[in-house]
Amino acid sequence: MIGGSVDSSSPTPRRAATIGTREGRLLSLDEAITAVAAAAAPPPWEPVSLGEALGRVLAEDVRSVDEVPPFDNSAMDGYALRAADTEAATEGAPARLRIAGESRAGAPAPVSPGPGEAIAISTGAMLPPGADAVVRMEDVAVRDGELIVSDPVSPGAEVRRAGEDVRAGDAVLAAGTRLGPAELGVIASVGAPEVACAPRPAVAVVTTGDELTDPGRPLPPGGIRNSNTFTVPAQAREAGCEVSFVETVGDDPAATSAALERGLGADVLVVCGGVSVGTHDHVKPALTGLGIEQRFWGIALRPGRPTWFGIGRGGAPLVFGLPGNPVSAMVTFRLLVVPAIAALTGASAQDDRVSAVLDERYPKRPGRLHAVRCSLSLVDDEWHARPTGPQGSHVLTSMLGADGLALVPVERGDVQAGERVEVLLLRPPVAGSR
Ligand code: AMP
Ligand code: MG
Repeated sequence: MIGGSVDSSSPTPRRAATIGTREGRLLSLDEAITAVAAAAAPPPWEPVSLGEALGRVLAEDVRSVDEVPPFDNSAMDGYALRAADTEAATEGAPARLRIAGESRAGAPAPVSPGPGEAIAISTGAMLPPGADAVVRMEDVAVRDGELIVSDPVSPGAEVRRAGEDVRAGDAVLAAGTRLGPAELGVIASVGAPEVACAPRPAVAVVTTGDELTDPGRPLPPGGIRNSNTFTVPAQAREAGCEVSFVETVGDDPAATSAALERGLGADVLVVCGGVSVGTHDHVKPALTGLGIEQRFWGIALRPGRPTWFGIGRGGAPLVFGLPGNPVSAMVTFRLLVVPAIAALTGASAQDDRVSAVLDERYPKRPGRLHAVRCSLSLVDDEWHARPTGPQGSHVLTSMLGADGLALVPVERGDVQAGERVEVLLLRPPVAGSR
């Protein structure tokens, strides 16, 4: 166990709980990420049909058996010919070729052009044997069944060669690649009807709090709209998961335990709220009571200090107790749960950080790493980051327009305008892998 000063197996701790390790130290964000990564391993792969594979992660390389394109073909609608026949063509003395047949997409010409002959050809249609170039339809005339070519056509003009895109035997995609539209297209182009993928992780989400009121219901005195029940499952879906279970529970120990137990069948259980030190925070004792072993509680992070992490017996599920404040929940999901999901699917590390110039002074005291919601813009080939406004962990509108989280290190004080910051992208490129 990395952290945890509290014996949270007891549902009624006698002394006040303290966030942090046994020595009261908060984990660094990197230590927390490492602890999570160490607990997450991809399960065996399953075959997935191509139509269902968007967002899935390849468990094996994809190789091409065939060449793509599979045969020499035309890049244009026009005429396939022998370039040598047009060598001396001029406006005044054009080459005149007999049109001997047609090659259509999916229907190669039954004949080959002999000397002085051309074959009408469509884009993508097979170049007939004997032809070595294509002249575009717009560049020729047809008179009395003859093709009139007024300019020499270079050998190879408008011809796409077999294997120009993919050579037979090439690996076109590596294991660990997340599949976006282009990846699906390339897999289809090499002829694979299905691919080996890690199973899509199932995520259960439990939001906690007596105050939580769903949108559309009257807001009672002291009521707060339940936003985490929408943001967190949406983040899980965006990260490629199936959300198997979403439930909201009040601040009651028995009800909390029962709700959490229902979520334990998932690969990842995310609990929002109730993980701090308040008298009505029941999540930690409920989880340990259900046999979830605490790995850490407390990160030197703002927002997100009381974040809790544990794992079930036998290594599953991974359980995250995220702070209830709406921004804290979203930020800690991005910082910790997204990498855990990536590890569960075997996804390759993504290029999801950029270095940016901070355009505004950011006031800060040393002691915690700050995750500052920023919009990003590209100015003269350089990224610039600007905080999205007030950064309170309850100010959910600060997530609107946020492209990334500027990660200002623990030890840093104020950051001046013009200094460089590292920014973790909130929406990493879907298919980018390295
Ligand atoms: P907690 O982590 O339970 O102490 O909650 C911290 C703050 O976040 C409190 O102000 C809660 O009202 C708020 N909060 C907790 N859960 C949610 C939720 N699901 N949606 C919106 N706000 C929440
Ligand atoms: Mg609460």
